[in-house]
Amino acid sequence: MLMLNNTLKREKQAFKPMDAGRVTMYVCGPTVYSYAHIGNARSAVAFDVLFRVLRHLYGEDHVVYARNITDVDDKINKAAYEQKVDIRTITEKFAKIYQEDLRALGCLDPTIQPWATETMDEIIGMIEALIEKGHAYEAEGHVLFDIGTYEDYGHLSRRSQDEIIAGARVEVAPYKRNAADFVLWKPSDDQTPGWESPWGYGRPGWHIECSSMIEKHLGTTIDIHCGGQDLAFPHHENEVAQSVCAHGGAPFVNYWLHNGFLNMGDEKMSKSLGNIALINDLIKAYPPEALRMALLTAHYRQPLSWTDSLIDQAIGNLDKFYHRLSDLEDLVVTPKVHESVEAALLDDLNTPKAFAALFALLKDKRLSDEDLKAYLIGSGALFGFLQQSPAEWFASKQTGKSDLDEAKIESMIAERAEAKANKDYGRADEIRDFLKSHAIMIKDSPEGTSWYRE
Ligand code: AMP
Ligand code: ZN
Repeated sequence: MLMLNNTLKREKQAFKPMDAGRVTMYVCGPTVYSYAHIGNARSAVAFDVLFRVLRHLYGEDHVVYARNITDVDDKINKAAYEQKVDIRTITEKFAKIYQEDLRALGCLDPTIQPWATETMDEIIGMIEALIEKGHAYEAEGHVLFDIGTYEDYGHLSRRSQDEIIAGARVEVAPYKRNAADFVLWKPSDDQTPGWESPWGYGRPGWHIECSSMIEKHLGTTIDIHCGGQDLAFPHHENEVAQSVCAHGGAPFVNYWLHNGFLNMGDEKMSKSLGNIALINDLIKAYPPEALRMALLTAHYRQPLSWTDSLIDQAIGNLDKFYHRLSDLEDLVVTPKVHESVEAALLDDLNTPKAFAALFALLKDKRLSDEDLKAYLIGSGALFGFLQQSPAEWFASKQTGKSDLDEAKIESMIAERAEAKANKDYGRADEIRDFLKSHAIMIKDSPEGTSWYRE
């Protein structure tokens, strides 16, 4: 039986889907305005394990997993404005990079990847329903959700309405009924992307995007909703309020799962603190399977400290598995899941326990070579490991930090100088980024370009 720690109840509960023939899960996806960092990858990877476990339990065709692309957002507008391009140029580029980054980290593609801009009719429809039912009001071109009309507001994140209202007073707009009322729709000027709506030309707020994508693709009530811990309030609280009120009180989500932060030292990895490592750089510098293992060495709800030694340890561990698999290369087996690994993952996706169980198999003298290989590959697949051939694994280690010799670095620096001389700054930047992803840092000065290993 799958046990999940449900934020709604603050306890581990046995998971029971509403319909075992169509299990539904949703994960809040990225805002695609730039490269994602490895902290952003944590929820996608953790909940990829959930997706795999659900497919194992209910069958591949019976699990519907939606992860959205937020392609309407002021950060995107700002990037498009600064780079003098259309927002789609930015969103299409970074959505593609995000998907490729996650594939490299061993994540299965979600069943559905809805885009907010393709959900505009449903967003407008849901806002209309909220106004009609008296839960939202129009004020100065904005439409706001009236939190005073939803008694359970604050239930998910266990905050009282007084506390929430006190917290919101700081930036209160004069047209709001309650300080904590949040935006469903806001006006756009000529410079800002927008859509025609009953409330004029404008764009949706972030929270309504997720509620509408869930309604459109998964239904009124879904089994599982996941996301980072920081999204519980206000984002998920607002999603609940919108969906429950638009649907006449029908429940929105039965199980809420939240992942902990990935930290650098004592601080959360975040763009604003400038302590980020991009997935796109890391997968060029390290074997991606080791990055996935590093991300899953802590239980998803716990904080995870990101360090070089964490990655080195993961490489060493995977070496042990692939060495053994390479000894067993000639055996043809049918993969099977070992119950010890399965039991660990069914216990609220306990990946550290699952790794320990996988290691115990390596040391289990009672297993025949055939059984060992079948269990390693079958159990590994349950959380996304050991699916390469040993040769592929050992080759993936070669593409990392150590593969650039001096001659290669010098020739790339010469090529960059030539690109700059030809005003091909795009190529020059590409080369600098490539070298950086291999931990080669370059410095320009009047005397020329020098480099050093990070
Ligand atoms: P942001 O870029 O801050 O809007 O975050 C996008 C997503 O990544 C959200 O789901 C966050 O919960 C998640 N996230 C951001 N930083 C971290 C981190 N350091 N650790 C774990 N999750 C994070
Ligand atoms: Zn969301």
